[in-house]
Amino acid sequence: MEQKIIEVNGLRKEYGDFVAVENLNFSIGKGEIFGIVGPNGAGKTTTLKMLGGLIRPSRGNIAMKGLDMSRDSVEIKSFLGFLPEESPLYEGMSVDDYLIFFAELYGVGKSEAKKRIRNLLFDLSLNADGKRIGDLSKGMKRKVAIARSLINDPDILIYDEPASGLDPMTSRYITDYVRSLKKAGKTVIFTAHNLYQVESLCDNILIMKNGTEIIQGTAEHIRQEYGKIQYRLEFRVDNLAGYGLAEVKQVNGDYVIVTDDIDIVNNTTKWVAARGGDIVEMRTIVPSLEDIFLSIMGIELFAD
Ligand code: ADP
Repeated sequence: MEQKIIEVNGLRKEYGDFVAVENLNFSIGKGEIFGIVGPNGAGKTTTLKMLGGLIRPSRGNIAMKGLDMSRDSVEIKSFLGFLPEESPLYEGMSVDDYLIFFAELYGVGKSEAKKRIRNLLFDLSLNADGKRIGDLSKGMKRKVAIARSLINDPDILIYDEPASGLDPMTSRYITDYVRSLKKAGKTVIFTAHNLYQVESLCDNILIMKNGTEIIQGTAEHIRQEYGKIQYRLEFRVDNLAGYGLAEVKQVNGDYVIVTDDIDIVNNTTKWVAARGGDIVEMRTIVPSLEDIFLSIMGIELFAD
């Protein structure tokens, strides 16, 4: 079997008695975009910090490119780019000086650093015009932090909520930028607290809650496991006497049933025909991944 670029086994993190992350297992192929989604407190940031080698797991292991994080974290970090949820930036520095500073920390030579910075700023359409970081908008600061995460030309990017809290245009821009990173052959693992941007972006998705996995796989897989297709049938009859197949609502003088059982749809159609009524409309309702996510979270909330 082809070796995955990231392999995570039995990952767990405790803070005292509190278990923030429990028994996570996943693997990520080279060039994949992997999204970790869950509500606040699900354990997403804790997971990313372990993947970035910033905190040590209580149990389990992380391997990247066949190297073991517990032994080879220095080497692993040389090909990682990490974007924290809140990036502390040096407010008084200009964007160029700031990025050159980080390039030097990674041992990138000055002329190469300048070239990279020029390309990154262009790709991110960030025109800072010599401004101090402290004077930039929130979205521009996020772009600076993203540029910084890429300055060492890493193969694996670990991004905590890259597009959250930004205006819709910048958020969309960053989402598109992450897609372009994949095209450039990078592997990206990122978190989000809703599925809204994740659905079209990710090859695989891990949904977490209370530190544990709820489900993982492709959007299609998650849809198959959780997303029931429903049928909505609208019909017209003189009266409903004797109809007992499903709950009926009245809409604009017609009757409507919504069911996931195709037999009920068929039997209702026959019943309407036998009464001399009409079928007004028959529609299939396919839930979005976001609908499924909310329903998973809802079910879990009421499960215990
Ligand atoms: P998410 O990123 O999904 O919002 P986090 O990974 O930040 O979740 O947090 C998961 C849980 O772990 C939360 O309940 C949080 O309060 C707790 N937690 C995170 N960091 C610490 C810490 N350093 N000490 C104690 N508890 C922590």
